[in-house]
Amino acid sequence: MKTIGVIGGMSWESSTEYYRLLNRHAKARLGGHHNARSLMLTVDFASIEACQRAGDWAALGLQMAEAARQLERGGADLVLLATNTMHRVYESIEQAIDIPFLHIADPTGSALRAAGIERVGLLGTRYTMEQTFYTGRLRERYGLDTLTPDEAQRADVHRIIYDELCHGNVNEESRAVYQRIIEGMAARDAQAVILGCTEITLLIKPEDSVLPVFDTTALHAQAAVEWEIDSA
Ligand code: GLU
Repeated sequence: MKTIGVIGGMSWESSTEYYRLLNRHAKARLGGHHNARSLMLTVDFASIEACQRAGDWAALGLQMAEAARQLERGGADLVLLATNTMHRVYESIEQAIDIPFLHIADPTGSALRAAGIERVGLLGTRYTMEQTFYTGRLRERYGLDTLTPDEAQRADVHRIIYDELCHGNVNEESRAVYQRIIEGMAARDAQAVILGCTEITLLIKPEDSVLPVFDTTALHAQAAVEWEIDSA
């Protein structure tokens, strides 16, 4: 079996979800006591988050490239970056390694296309919602029209991610805030919503949303396991 390498720790609350989902999918596909063969490298999120706030994406690219190289040296056959936001620097990773890199937007874009969705709401960090690295890929590769919440709502979505979810705090009031924001996107004709931050899955389950939910954490982990099994 091939080995999936995961750059984790951004935050570790979502990395534990990856670990659980990778193994759960492997068991679902293979049965018995099967696991997904994997390696996870946990980076120190404090310095990452500080560089994000400073807009120092060049330093972040170097750190992600080094983490990916470490996984490759450790025997990984594929690299996953377990955060949407840090895909801002995915090219630095691809250039640093000789093994494949599975971009988080790709399984999500494919699933949306397969479901016949054309216009989709996006929830994530400010970086993911406001910069073009994520929405651009969804448009160019999958023909998807993405819409994001308004300025005040984006601030709430971002704050809840960093101040609560990244610390493992899941609270009812914040769920209600997200639910209202999703309802607003439904009113603007979004056909579905992307949980475009790997911690949002801790807060919003499909039954909490008026729109069909496309969970990047689950879709990314599942695609990696399918790759692992199909390329064995
Ligand atoms: N896990 C988050 C994401 O998917 C945010 C944390 C980070 O800044 O990496 O975007």
